[in-house]
Amino acid sequence: MEISNLGASELVSHLSAGHLTAVDCIQYFLQRIEQTNQSLNAFVNISDTALQRAREIDARRASGKPVGPLAGLPIAVKDGICTSGLKTTAGSKMLEQFVPPYDATIVRRLIDADGIVIGKTNMDEFAMGSSTEHSHFGAVKNPWSLDRVPGGSSGGSAACVAADMSPVAIGSDTGGSIRQPASFCGITGLKPTYGRVSRYGLIAFASSLDQIGPMTRTAKDSALILSVIAGHDVKDSTSAKNDVPDFTRSLEKPLTGVRIGICREHFDEGLDPEVESCVREATKVLESLGAATCEIHLPHTPYAVATYYVVAPCEASSNLARYDGVRYTYRAAATDLEQMYCQTRAAGFGDEVKQRIMLGTYALSSGYYDAFYLKASRVRRMIKHDYDQAFGEVDLILGPTSPTTAFSIGEHSHNPLAMYLADIYTVSANLAGVPAISIPAGISASGLPIGLQLQARSFDEGALLQAAHQFQSVTGWHATKPPLYQGPQT
Ligand code: GLN
Repeated sequence: MEISNLGASELVSHLSAGHLTAVDCIQYFLQRIEQTNQSLNAFVNISDTALQRAREIDARRASGKPVGPLAGLPIAVKDGICTSGLKTTAGSKMLEQFVPPYDATIVRRLIDADGIVIGKTNMDEFAMGSSTEHSHFGAVKNPWSLDRVPGGSSGGSAACVAADMSPVAIGSDTGGSIRQPASFCGITGLKPTYGRVSRYGLIAFASSLDQIGPMTRTAKDSALILSVIAGHDVKDSTSAKNDVPDFTRSLEKPLTGVRIGICREHFDEGLDPEVESCVREATKVLESLGAATCEIHLPHTPYAVATYYVVAPCEASSNLARYDGVRYTYRAAATDLEQMYCQTRAAGFGDEVKQRIMLGTYALSSGYYDAFYLKASRVRRMIKHDYDQAFGEVDLILGPTSPTTAFSIGEHSHNPLAMYLADIYTVSANLAGVPAISIPAGISASGLPIGLQLQARSFDEGALLQAAHQFQSVTGWHATKPPLYQGPQT
């Protein structure tokens, strides 16, 4: 059996049918990681207990005892999500030696379903970035072209799935960090509704925007993972009590009667013509599947990036105040307490993180609070209102995930504003709390993947996954692999 050609759902069925053991499966991916990680830098830490877990699961299955729905499935977890006994650094020197004493709720749920955490993936420090160049552990490379970024901040998670080092990765998305790297690496990435998935154990960046979600080859695989990780959690007071359907159940429903809005503001200047024509082609595919399309407006879109880059740094400046050298972090040598705080934060945080802390602290300071944070919160409400209006007319909103394909490593290093502006299509979903998915929709002339974004009403991930799955049933982009990392040909 050629494991590299199997997605998570297929792996799980082969494992359960006994065509494959969990040990063989884990060994295959550990070997892929060993061969590939040096060139991509997607993983920062590999689990040394994964094989042991696989043996236990195989033994349990062999003895006829029940196993969970993900039994034996390898899962890579972004390094900003706590894993008990396994280092969790958030890509920062500050947490270089941090070993959490507990699992994040989603990690617990994956383990309880008998999934196997295979390792921790590289990321922009504290999830701040769109390129995974801002990691204390070095930049991640895009498997489609080693001189390109994989996107960020979940760049390690996206690269490892694209390069067949894990069938599933978990990412987090505060302003696009699941969807944009999914788009740059040619995989499927889902940001669930705010509150759908527990944030307990996710190292906080901007708590009113952060969400955890799956990064997989296909929508079907994302449905499988979301069904396991979603749901209320008493440990996260913002997690929602809504019922969690089995998202794999509604995938086959035809798109007849589904109304898709093409967001006018997502096709404005700055959009690469190649990305535009690819998204327009994808629209035709969805129409041919029975969906009805029309143009809609999200009129406050031009203010979304500015709003996000006030709200997110404000929340970050407050969340990151805890890294003071006293508790679980790196501590700089100093002679008195104040000096210790200053030296620790000066040496422990990278430049991008410090920039955000300064921006956020400034915007929250008493003289400027009204002008920045309060104003941004008002615009945020208007953005949410745009969505409420649009979802009165349509079921899904379609557009590009990112204005361009993966940019070159270093291209935006000296121009943070250019990097921030590229988040234009992704940040609004976080500001409004709605779910959104990025799926592969084409390959550019230079051989780089292009992503399509669909957004839905709150708690309607089912509609996103259904449309994405239907699209993937008639297109092959999600199955196209980076030339460098094609598995052995069968
Ligand atoms: N690129 C955005 C930022 O830099 C989003 C990051 C994220 O979603 N974690 O803040």
